[in-house]
Amino acid sequence: MSNQKGVSMPYPKPTRRSWAEPFKIKMVEPLKTTTREHRLKAIEEAGYNTFLLRSEDVYIDLLTDSGTNAMSDYQWAGMMLGDEAYAGSKNFYYLESNMQKYYGYNYLVPTHQGRGAEHIISQILIKPGDFIPGNMYFTTTREHQERAGGTFVDVIIDEAHDPDSTHLFKGDVDLQKLEDLIKKVGEKKIPYISVAATVNMAGGQPISMKNMRAVRELTNKYGIRIIFDATRAVENAYFIKMREKGYEGKSIAEILRELCSYTDGATMSGKKDLLVNIGGFLAINDKDVFDEARNMVVVYEGLHTYGGLAGRDMEAMARGMEEMVQEDYIRSRIGQVEYLGQKLLDWEVPVVKPIGGHAVFLNAKKILPHIPQDQFPAQTLAAEIYVDSGVRTMERGVVSAGRDPKTGQHRYPKLELVRVTIPRRVYTQAHMDVTAESVLEVYESREKLKGLEMVYEPKHLRFFQARFAKM
Ligand SMILES: *Cc1c(COP(=O)(O)O)cnc(C)c1O
Repeated sequence: MSNQKGVSMPYPKPTRRSWAEPFKIKMVEPLKTTTREHRLKAIEEAGYNTFLLRSEDVYIDLLTDSGTNAMSDYQWAGMMLGDEAYAGSKNFYYLESNMQKYYGYNYLVPTHQGRGAEHIISQILIKPGDFIPGNMYFTTTREHQERAGGTFVDVIIDEAHDPDSTHLFKGDVDLQKLEDLIKKVGEKKIPYISVAATVNMAGGQPISMKNMRAVRELTNKYGIRIIFDATRAVENAYFIKMREKGYEGKSIAEILRELCSYTDGATMSGKKDLLVNIGGFLAINDKDVFDEARNMVVVYEGLHTYGGLAGRDMEAMARGMEEMVQEDYIRSRIGQVEYLGQKLLDWEVPVVKPIGGHAVFLNAKKILPHIPQDQFPAQTLAAEIYVDSGVRTMERGVVSAGRDPKTGQHRYPKLELVRVTIPRRVYTQAHMDVTAESVLEVYESREKLKGLEMVYEPKHLRFFQARFAKM
């Protein structure tokens, strides 16, 4: 399929031959099974919030793909080469050169994870009263935009809000919505557009290269920057290769470089594409913005050559970049998500279509139509799946959407979903089978399920720590 440098050959035509994980297992971590009784008690103690469960009480952990990756022997070997100097660590320079090679931006500021980069870029570029358009919100990204005094405006295509639309690029920006906003508030009030790939909250849906190019043309006309949320850009690149005309023969590495080339900078959570457990960065082309960011990072994260990370963590990220673009890796990564999704589709469990890059999203609104959205159907469904099997998933609906800062009311998103997220290189297809069977079991008993009421609500990013009780 590919060699170590990520030079690709065309994918084989679909055949009846199976694919398998492109790695073998060198070290194992035992999983613990629990009784239904134990899980009932655990979820009650956790306030029916899967974020508040102890991982010890979880069997298959599909809460998130963030920082839950299995590193390779090559990355672990790199961990031993950590240069833990306070300043000028050699691992930083290696990370910087790999970022330039694989993403193509000029300057790098490491941060402890993605939100560290979001904080810095939001504080530098956003002034109170500004508007920041984006292809759907992401929880931490919007939080930092709002804290800097900005207002997020959703400019994703309508299809993204429709779980049944089979549009191949549901992450696309609606250019009309974007231009309408520019005309309404004026380009001076738009410091940048935030473009994500793939779009997490839409169900891991990709943006097309054609759309990214068009966004660049439009923003160039008005002198507006594009800040790329590149957290899952490699997974997006794979979808472009599989679905977009003209990209079949290009390597994942080439497609990634091209995507980034239409943008002015990126925030990155290394805990996703980069196959590590912690880390992130801000990358930027503009020297002045870089100088400011480098200045700010010492206040909030650490010196500009470590940004809150150990040298060994930067080494693991740099090596992760080399592995993430390998064709057989990315094919199996997304192939595993598709495998789980296809099972549920075959059993007619309502899921977001097409299946996304990092997770299968269950359509809780459709599964539990008798539970109104202010009784948290997705939160309920996630709790029930845990009780059934010990599989941990998470809510992506009204709880995640939070309250409107102006009106104080719940924001009611069209999508009320449970995210079944697959960590990279951690579980096998047999774990996917067990998961699918548990989802089916709960789906079949759906009419008996009752909603929840929120009994504790944190002020910020409430989904992480909110507590619920049975109605
Ligand atoms: C995870 C994620 C972030 C935030 O990154 P952290 O490392 O969790 O701070 C931002 N954007 C997207 C799309 C993400 O998936």
